[in-house]
Amino acid sequence: MRVEVLSTGTELLRGRTVDTNAAWLGAQLEKAGLEVRHRQTVDDHPGRLVDALKLACARADIVLLTGGLGPTEDDYTRSVAEEAFHRPLVFRPALWKAIRQRFRNHRIRMAAINRRQAYVPEGSVVLPNPHGSAPGFAIRQDGVFFAAMPGPPREMMPMFLDHVLPRIRRKAPFEVWEAKAFGLPEGTVDEAVRRAVGARATYGLTVRGGQVSISIRAEGSRRKKTLHDLSRRVRAALGECLYGRDLPEEVARGLLRAGKTISVAESCTGGLIAHKLTEVPGVSEVLLEAAVTYSNDSKVRRLGVPPGLIRTHGAVSEEVARAMALGAARSSGASMGVAVTGIAGPSGGSKEKPVGLCCMAVDGWVERRIFQGERSHVKERAAGFALNMVRLKLLREEGHAGKKLGLRGRR
Ligand code: ATP
Repeated sequence: MRVEVLSTGTELLRGRTVDTNAAWLGAQLEKAGLEVRHRQTVDDHPGRLVDALKLACARADIVLLTGGLGPTEDDYTRSVAEEAFHRPLVFRPALWKAIRQRFRNHRIRMAAINRRQAYVPEGSVVLPNPHGSAPGFAIRQDGVFFAAMPGPPREMMPMFLDHVLPRIRRKAPFEVWEAKAFGLPEGTVDEAVRRAVGARATYGLTVRGGQVSISIRAEGSRRKKTLHDLSRRVRAALGECLYGRDLPEEVARGLLRAGKTISVAESCTGGLIAHKLTEVPGVSEVLLEAAVTYSNDSKVRRLGVPPGLIRTHGAVSEEVARAMALGAARSSGASMGVAVTGIAGPSGGSKEKPVGLCCMAVDGWVERRIFQGERSHVKERAAGFALNMVRLKLLREEGHAGKKLGLRGRR
């Protein structure tokens, strides 16, 4: 199954808009076991667009196009599909009604040209767009599945997930299993996965901020069973380092499962942990408070860190990190506290405390690490490390509680 992604828009070629649609689609397709073989970006020019679409249809089985569905003169996707597939545009009264209704609902005056959006190539399936006025459409012709989706990501993403992916998923030759690992070098993860997978499947690793993402792909009629076996082997090899979702989501779910709440105190990460956690929908049930206590005075005032502790050990120390975590929990009434204090650089280091030194604490548990790289990298690594500590603590407590109750571990 060869997939091709076509992005249209002059602004994409000029670099004014970054083509995030193609990247996002590539990742979603990979997850679904489909592979993008080619990607084209074309400016808003009807002739070049027709050429690009014909080329895509000649070499791919699935062609996904984004952009150019607006009502204006330079939105050519509809007419380009008309020409490439030899299907005249037909007016769909139901679409026109829905478009008018949408404008009425939003109390916006509609321009007459919006009527163009009620035309789709003959015989195509309309893909609803609840987030915008431009409907998408899909065509099956000569063994090719073609879908046209709007350019704005917030319109394209749900349309793809709800109306395009279900139509192409069964064509996927692969089944994919994904997981993440934290706290192990890429080489170690690679060795463990290679050993577990052998010649039964293929796999890929990507590394970001200390998190190694693993993706294993199997084909054939027994691919589900193969992946089930292989994932068990990887789990056995990587143990508690392995988890399923992104780290902040994993932490939020762990807290929910345990019925616990958390508060955050950050110094060098400047709110990055709080930001990551607040990216998770529904985290308000478990996250009580986050404080960026950057100065010594605020660590004392806000978190109740004893001034003597800072004088004796310095603000970047295991002792202060622990006091910050405990203070965050105590002062907010949360059942857990997580804290980071460190030297993100590029200056401010010394021989005993070099740039990159960070102390991360979860309640009374403290870890000290030196992270290499520039300021943003150090912040990213420290935030990830602290979140992983929360994940591990919850996991270990869960395992412990399970054992006490005579339950078998869930992993
Ligand atoms: P509209 O009805 O909003 O005009 P459209 O389908 O015609 O939708 P375009 O006009 O091509 O879409 O693009 C609208 C906006 O969507 C662009 O200005 C840009 O912000 C965003 N966009 C378009 N294509 C992409 C892309 N490939 N990646 C990320 N953003 C994109």
